Amino acid sequence: MDRVDLAIVGGGVIGAVIAREAVAASPGATVAVLERGLAGQGASSRSAGVHFPRGGTERVRSMSAYSQGVWERLAAELDLPIRTVDATVVSAGNVDGVSPVYLGLGDETAPAHDWAAAPGTRAWDLDGCHYADVQAVAGRVLAGLRDRVTVLEGTEVTELSSEGGYHRLTLGSGRELLARRVVLAPGPWIGHPAWAELVAPLGLRVKKVVAAHIEGAPAAGDPLVVFHDEDAFVLPLPERGHYLFSYTCDRWDVTPDGVGPALEPSDLDDARAVLGRFAPGLVDQCTSGRVFCDAYSPDREPVVAELLPGLVFAGAANGSGYRLAPAIAAETVAALDLTPTGTIPQPLQRQS
Ligand SMILES: Cc1cc2nc3c(=O)[nH]c(=O)nc-3n(C[C@H](O)[C@H](O)[C@H](O)COP(=O)(O)OP(=O)(O)OC[C@H]3O[C@@H](n4cnc5c(N)ncnc54)[C@H](O)[C@@H]3O)c2cc1C
Repeated sequence: MDRVDLAIVGGGVIGAVIAREAVAASPGATVAVLERGLAGQGASSRSAGVHFPRGGTERVRSMSAYSQGVWERLAAELDLPIRTVDATVVSAGNVDGVSPVYLGLGDETAPAHDWAAAPGTRAWDLDGCHYADVQAVAGRVLAGLRDRVTVLEGTEVTELSSEGGYHRLTLGSGRELLARRVVLAPGPWIGHPAWAELVAPLGLRVKKVVAAHIEGAPAAGDPLVVFHDEDAFVLPLPERGHYLFSYTCDRWDVTPDGVGPALEPSDLDDARAVLGRFAPGLVDQCTSGRVFCDAYSPDREPVVAELLPGLVFAGAANGSGYRLAPAIAAETVAALDLTPTGTIPQPLQRQS
């Protein structure tokens, strides 16, 4: 039977960044990433990949600031497909209602587009935003680790049990793996029978997430427009030749294997209804999109929780798992007490 110091279940963006943080913290540790499909093909593959420095609570704002720094560094180090974008926050309220949520909201400015200038609307610049091809980011982060981390794709973890300080993972192939530490980073697959009971006390739920595509080639320098009051945004995607419209879909308790890749007619109806409130001129161009789901926590903060000694759940980032992945990874590795077998314990090194 194979043994590793750390098994990470899930090769999405969160699992990939945890693997990177784990080998940085504990270079001699043996680490395996177990992914039932291909790396990055879960929720990460449908992600809009937007980072804006924002958070509804102090912890999330601090995770957002930390993660921004890590993504900027990794983008340069690993040549990741991450593109900076100018951004404007739009609201019908005043600055006191908007500024607590964002880090370093800039000066008041003119709304970026006619369609973002409903009567009474105000706009502010927002620095530090970017967007990423999240599936490619997950793949590239793992690619850079292949000499130090065993990445097993097409490998489902079918059972999980714990005994004598080890966790036994049964793989779809019938092979078994004994791990001193386990991270569950399954994205929206929180209900997998191997861990559903363990995860249940966290009170997580899975919500459908939809982003519509708006036809029309973005102009050079077009900004990301964040509609603060609607919890929505319009992102120009010049490399794809269209805009993306993200809004809050309210369909709860879906399953990742039940949400197909295709939009339902009601998804576009819902998107158009929200879009029509501030950009009626764009509604007819809102013709397609992307859909999947994500895990959400009761308090809308990401979850890093030790479920059993040495077994940590990491995720439930409430539709923000790309932008908060580095901070989730740092918290996860800190929770793991990850010391390589047979070496002198060393303090964890946190990335700054
Ligand atoms: C349409 C859409 C738009 C989004 N936009 C944004 C955005 O703009 N900004 C942002 O920050 N976030 C956004 N998100 C959210 C973000 O994409 C997710 O929070 C993030 O991708 C979650 O990463 P993850 O690694 O936890 O999950 P995943 O990417 O789903 O990875 C989990 C992996 O676990 C694997 N797995 C599951 N069960 C098993 C098993 N039994 N054995 C082995 N492997 C298993 C799956 O195959 C999967 O690859 C969006 C999401 C969607 C759907």
